[in-house]
Amino acid sequence: MATRNIRYDGDPILRKISKAVPAVTPRIRVLIEDMLETMYGANGVGLAAPQVGILKRIVVIDVGEGPIVMINPKITRTEGEQTGDEGCLSLPGKAGTVTRPNEVTVQFMGEDGEYYELEGTELLARAICHECDHLDGKIYKDFVEGELRDVTAEDEEEEEEEQA
Ligand code: ZN
Repeated sequence: MATRNIRYDGDPILRKISKAVPAVTPRIRVLIEDMLETMYGANGVGLAAPQVGILKRIVVIDVGEGPIVMINPKITRTEGEQTGDEGCLSLPGKAGTVTRPNEVTVQFMGEDGEYYELEGTELLARAICHECDHLDGKIYKDFVEGELRDVTAEDEEEEEEEQA
């Protein structure tokens, strides 16, 4: 396992469309382990493969309930609305207000190659939307309400949980 370099806003790779993963190979497993290590190392709640420079449709999320690995995730249902602060490991020190669905259903392939469906609400729904956006070259600042804010070191400690 290794930590990978996080790509920051302005890097053109963050604007590209990631490719579907046909099968879970040993190399994909290494990538997933590295993504988890990178996410935890940066105190993030989510990370998408393009954020470490790999244009594959893989995201990892942990909103405090254990790691979720999603390959080729597809959001199939959204419901309701939530408005709240969001951050991103690719935009360190920034936060902004984004409205997201309050509930999502997502289908994906797991690390075992099987297909799964998961329902997420609140922070998990927000993280799923945020990470899936990365796979399509979208960054939350594209739909932030108002301005991106600088978060102070003190705020950052509180908001670390929401960096994705
Ligand atoms: Zn992000």
